[in-house]
Amino acid sequence: MMKKDLLIIGSTNIDLVVYSDTFPKKGETLTGTHFQQFFGGKGANQAVAAAKMGSQVTFVSCVGNDIHGESALQHLQENHIDTRFVAVDKQVPTGVAMINIGDGGDNKIIVVPGANGVLKPAHLGAVVEKMADYEYIVMQLEVPMETIAFMADVAGRYQKKLILNPAPAQPLSDQVLANCYMLTPNETEAEAICGLPVTDAQSAGKAAQQIRAKGVEVVIITLGENGVFVSCESFEGMVPCPKVTAVDTTAAGDTFTGALTAFLNEGIALENAVVLANKAASIAVTRAGAQASIPLRSEVV
Ligand code: ADP
Repeated sequence: MMKKDLLIIGSTNIDLVVYSDTFPKKGETLTGTHFQQFFGGKGANQAVAAAKMGSQVTFVSCVGNDIHGESALQHLQENHIDTRFVAVDKQVPTGVAMINIGDGGDNKIIVVPGANGVLKPAHLGAVVEKMADYEYIVMQLEVPMETIAFMADVAGRYQKKLILNPAPAQPLSDQVLANCYMLTPNETEAEAICGLPVTDAQSAGKAAQQIRAKGVEVVIITLGENGVFVSCESFEGMVPCPKVTAVDTTAAGDTFTGALTAFLNEGIALENAVVLANKAASIAVTRAGAQASIPLRSEVV
């Protein structure tokens, strides 16, 4: 059987990172130490992670008609991602994350969704017509909830496997959960969905059970340096990740979900795909930036 493309729908952002020794007080202007610009957005990060693992990725997103949108699109294409379904909106700017890092690594972040906020179901008609080309659909929560609900219904109707990385943390309706094949929350996101705090393997197990009771087949809770807790019919327990010296954990979760879905789409069994995705994410935390930190397949397999 021919390998299917991986369909990823989500946000595109440009991360503007300003470093300073301290944070400015209200009304104060400070001179910073340096500035860096990174390609980000959870959707684009996961698309790049999956593409770097060797998947043929179709990415659906929305950018503004501006220099940020142009460079983000070019970067996606350089990563061999199919951007046919990325919309360019003339009314709103490309999403940005203003990140100020000061005081020994502490950060203050403001995200302006811009074009991500107007990625609506109306944009998805063309890709829904091509649903036969895909088996797995990957989404996150940086686009409007009506778009997520729409695609969850589509996944249910077409019997596609929807993998939802429910980040940033927010509650989800029973209807959306019932149409998800897999959820990959971190501790905070798991709590936002089921109301149970997650601090260790035991509490992760309880939270995962609650979420699976809503109809999700596989729940994988990411637990930072401790790896992940996997809960599905055939396996329940921790899968540790390699020990590394973390430099920047930006996009750790995105690398995990993007890599995991690439390996599943390739036909690799869940238990092996999780081990490889843990390895990919643990490499990403040893490097700075979002998409720039994601390793290549040759470093992981
Ligand atoms: P998020 O970034 O979404 O909060 P986590 O912090 O749980 O997600 O990290 C996601 C994955 O990244 C982990 O499951 C693990 O595989 C890897 N990871 C994160 N932090 C570390 C670390 N300090 N050392 C090694 N791997 C890490």
